[in-house]
Amino acid sequence: MTPEHRVPAGLRGFRFVPAPSPPWWTVQCQREAERAARASFPLEVCGLWIAASATGPVRLNVLPAQASPVSFQADPQAVIQLAYRLVDDKAVVRATFHSHPFGFACPSRFDEPLADWAEDHLIAGCRAGAWTFAWWRTPHR
Ligand SMILES: [Zn+2]
Repeated sequence: MTPEHRVPAGLRGFRFVPAPSPPWWTVQCQREAERAARASFPLEVCGLWIAASATGPVRLNVLPAQASPVSFQADPQAVIQLAYRLVDDKAVVRATFHSHPFGFACPSRFDEPLADWAEDHLIAGCRAGAWTFAWWRTPHR
């Protein structure tokens, strides 16, 4: 549990719980996440960590989105196209990713729909120019 794993009291009963980084996570993945978060700054970025196969390497797929400094809405057409591609390629979504350019690496109630994509979630938070990364899990109920 890190300082980034603080959950505000108002979010009790919330699906996200602090989690360790998943076994496939590498320094290279971390760099990929940081690059994407910085590239979209000051807007939020969203994406999915996708493995080409059950054991294949995991890459970040950034989604086109309408984003603000405090929210994002993935482009519905891009999401649908990606969903079809995942089925066609038999690819696997390992985790979600998004940033909070002016906040903690801590989920909000607006992040709940991400649980439909994966159990693991990486959030990048930026406070005073310093990025932090925290893993969260939404266990199946
Ligand atoms: Zn969020």
